[in-house]
Formats: sequence, structure tokens, C-alpha cells
Amino acid sequence: MQLAVHYAEIGLKGRNRPRFEKRLRENLKRALRPLATARVSNEYGRLVVELPDDLDAQEVYQRISSVFGIAYFSPATIIEPTVLAIEAAVDEFVAMQEFESFGVRVRRVEKSFPMHSNELSAHLGARVVAKTGARVDLSDPDLWIEIHVLSRQAILLQQKIAGLGGLPVGTAGRAVSLISGGIDSPVASFEMMRRGLELCFVHFHSAPFTDATSQDKVRDLVSRLAIHQGRSTLFMVPFGELQQQLASEAPAEPRIVLYRRFMLRIAERLANRVGALGLVTGESLGQVSSQTLANLDSINRVAELPVLRPLVGFDKADIIHRAKEIDTFETSIEPDEDCCSHLMPLRPATWTRPDAIEAIESRLDVKGMIENVLEKIQEERIEPLR
Ligand code: ATP
Ligand code: MG
Repeated sequence: MQLAVHYAEIGLKGRNRPRFEKRLRENLKRALRPLATARVSNEYGRLVVELPDDLDAQEVYQRISSVFGIAYFSPATIIEPTVLAIEAAVDEFVAMQEFESFGVRVRRVEKSFPMHSNELSAHLGARVVAKTGARVDLSDPDLWIEIHVLSRQAILLQQKIAGLGGLPVGTAGRAVSLISGGIDSPVASFEMMRRGLELCFVHFHSAPFTDATSQDKVRDLVSRLAIHQGRSTLFMVPFGELQQQLASEAPAEPRIVLYRRFMLRIAERLANRVGALGLVTGESLGQVSSQTLANLDSINRVAELPVLRPLVGFDKADIIHRAKEIDTFETSIEPDEDCCSHLMPLRPATWTRPDAIEAIESRLDVKGMIENVLEKIQEERIEPLR
């Protein structure tokens, strides 16, 4: 079984391209490894994947579909780059299809080929009409016959399947994603992975003061996200003691902002540990009291690394739609005991000022509190769901 994999070329000019292609190759091999060892070669701006013939095609397509950085891919016939060989491949392909109208598309990458693209497509079109009696339709045919002529080979694309787009995971470096078990943060993680970030995950929980449902949910969510990047690291942070301390030593209204500031600080320490250059959250402007611009400002000040918030301008309805598409929604809506509702005041402050928050924290042993938590973090490895 052979497939041609095409990536979007935007942003790939020049020196980034070999690195991008190498990473895409590796990511494809990793995604396919549970099925077989793939051979992946680089052919003029596309990758050619070779797999054993006896694999289930749908399973192969599903795995390739999960890899970021692909515009589209196609099961392919690899042919000698001669008119005769191309004719034979088209004959064979056409004989297996049912169609009343068709179109031929030729892309000629190798300019020394004896026929121009237009000539070759006209030639093949006439041949197919003669053999099948089908009619040519270049706007919306039942069947596209697409040929790419390269220098050492020609490729017949049998069926184009859309990919997820984006950039290969890892080409944009690494970040730490704060994942809660809610709807938003898995979507935020997905969007940033799609831009090429490799993610480590961190989850804050209040067990044993609450039950452990949020941890199980997050393990499940990470296993779904790991489909796109492979085995993933999840840091489980026991946050309950620190919350108890804040509840007894700090005023109630700005508590959520205080929680978030501690979360960011701890996440940043983990980022330093794993060589990550950014943090990711699922915050969306105005969605809840901790996500007003004033509170985001108070929260943000403790982080030196950039905090990426891909959902900042999204409506909740759009986020839910996306969560369903990426298959995290059902897990996210399972009931849990989230650490943020643990010890929450009735009326959380929607408007805090950084200096007021800093005054509160100046009466606390912030550093000691963080060190104490860091010692208790559990590091887990989460396998992809499939
Ligand atoms: P989500 O749907 O992701 O839970 P949310 O709408 O509930 O988000 P908040 O509770 O304000 O909003 O959380 C904002 C962001 O802070 C989350 O998207 C997530 O990135 C981070 N966060 C919140 N709680 C936790 C947690 N327990 N562990 C890790 N990150 C968290
Ligand atoms: Mg939440």
C-alpha cells in the first residue's frame, strides 16, 4: 500500500523546510507504528508512505488523518515516469471505478518530461473516453484522475482525503498546557498542538479533599490528545493543601485569582524543568469571573513565559462545537469535583488589581508554599487512546 502525503507549503520556504519535513516523516511513522513499520520518503514537496498491502485501509487513513501538518493525502499508485506506464496505470485504475463523468489533472514537477501537463491530460482524457464512453467534466466529475509527474516516478492519486492542516507537532517547540477536565482546556491544547507545539500537561487537583474524578477525566482527555503527538507527560499536582492555606490566610473574594497565580507559577517551574518555552490555558475573555481582562492581568503578572490562550476570542458555543469535533466533549461534561470549585467564595471578585493581590501575597510564604507542592508532584506517562 502506498500513499502520497501533501503538506501545506505556507511558511515552509527556505531553511525551515527540511526540519519540517523530517518531523512530519517521524510523526507519520509514529502514528502508523501500531499497524506496521512505514517507509517514508521525500519526493519533491510530498512524502510517499509505503506500507504492507494487507493492512486495513480505513485504519491507515484514520491514523494519517490524526497527524498535524497535512493538507491532504491519497492512496497512490507509484509509476515509472513514462507515458506508456502512466497510460497503463490509468487504464487499470479506471477499470476498477464506476463513473459517468471524469476529469484528468496533471501536475508536472519534472519539466523534462516529453509532454506538457495540458497535453498529457488531454491525451489521457481522450483515452479514457475511448475506453469507457464516460464524459469529461472539469467542474464536478464523479471521478478525478490526478497524476503528478516527478523525475524518478509518477504518482496517480486515487482518492484525496483532507488532513487536519496545521504544522507537525514539535516544529514549534514545547509548551506546558494547564488542563482542567473542563471543556475549554482540551480544545486549547488541541489548537496549540495543531500549530506545531509539543505539549506536556499539568493538572491541579484537590484530592484527598475532593474525590479523584477530575484526575481520571484528565487522563482520558490526555490520551485523546496524545493521538496527535504520541505518548505524553502529565504532571499531577496535589493542590488542596495550598488551597486550604490560602482559604485560611487570604480574603475570600480574590481567591480564584490567587489560585490561578499559584497554578501559573507552578506550571512555569515545570516548564523550566522540561525545556518548555510557553504555557497554554483555555481561558476565554469574559467567560467566567476569573477571565475578565482585569483578572487576567492580575493572573498573568506572575508568569515570565508567554501564556498562550488560543480560545481568548471564542464564544462558548464555538468551543463546544470544536470539543465535539475533536472528541473530547463527552469526557469533559462528565461530572467531577474540580479543584477550582473547592473552597470557592459565593461571590468571586471580577475585578482585582495586581498591587492588591501582591499585598495579600506579601503576607504569605509564596516560595515555601510552591516548593512544598513541587515536592509532591506525580509525573505520569499517558499512552495515546489509539
Ligand atoms: P476549562 O473548561 O478548561 O475548565 P473554564 O471555563 O472552567 O476552563 P477556568 O476554570 O477559569 O475556566 O479555567 C481557566 C483555565 O485555567 C483552564 O482552561 C485551564 O487552562 C486552567 N485551569 C483551570 N483549572 C485547572 C486545573 N484544575 N488544572 C489545570 N489547569 C486548570
Ligand atoms: Mg474548568
